[in-house]
Amino acid sequence: MAHGLLYVVLLGAPGAGKGTQAGLLAGRLGVPHVSSGDLFRENLAGGTHLGRSAKSYIDKGELVPDAITIAMVMERLAQPDCDKGVLLDGFPRTLAQAQALDEALAGNGQRISVAPYIRVSEETLLARLAGRWTCQRCQAVYHQLFSPPRVPGVCDVCGGGLYQRADDTPETHKKRIEVYMVQTRPLIDYYRLLGLLRVIDGERSVDEVQAALLDVVQGLGEDGDRAQEAR
Ligand code: AMP
Repeated sequence: MAHGLLYVVLLGAPGAGKGTQAGLLAGRLGVPHVSSGDLFRENLAGGTHLGRSAKSYIDKGELVPDAITIAMVMERLAQPDCDKGVLLDGFPRTLAQAQALDEALAGNGQRISVAPYIRVSEETLLARLAGRWTCQRCQAVYHQLFSPPRVPGVCDVCGGGLYQRADDTPETHKKRIEVYMVQTRPLIDYYRLLGLLRVIDGERSVDEVQAALLDVVQGLGEDGDRAQEAR
């Protein structure tokens, strides 16, 4: 197997901006953006057996069982476009998934290159998740604090009414953050102990966070950028 393939695991809570950052970063690095959430949504839309098995968990904001998730992601990683590595977003989300990934990579003589963790305060997570409003006519997205419409409840673009999506309720947000804290947060220590964790301050603008992520990935192999304290 070739040496030095790029395997980046992007860590962060729901609302930290992982999806946005991963899309931008994968394009710049020239590796596929592999999002387990997107893979599940494709299977849901396609009505596959896997999609049907995962649906009830996704609807409740719970994690899909490891066996299903690991098999789905491993199948994706075996595709030829993942030959030079991947940027993983939303996977692994449990210790069992992290270990399965390490074992699969080790089987090919590979290992995770780096695990950037986009850190955002719980206050900001909730504020970002809670404040989203969507136009029912043109789908423009607003945030009640960060990008409010000129007239409350009315779309600036088309004048349509704004609404909050079904999965944008305080109950779902609380559940997703709870699941993250219990099942996914331990991965921060897991990657810290392996010396792979890099903490990125996610409270900054999209461009600033992207620049910090690029620095971390492009600085691979250089000394002096050791794992920082993650709390
Ligand atoms: P996401 O788009 O990453 O927020 O994922 C949407 C939903 O898909 C999650 O709430 C989970 O139900 C499921 N999911 C995505 N990735 C995983 C994973 N690595 N392990 C278990 N469930 C996952």
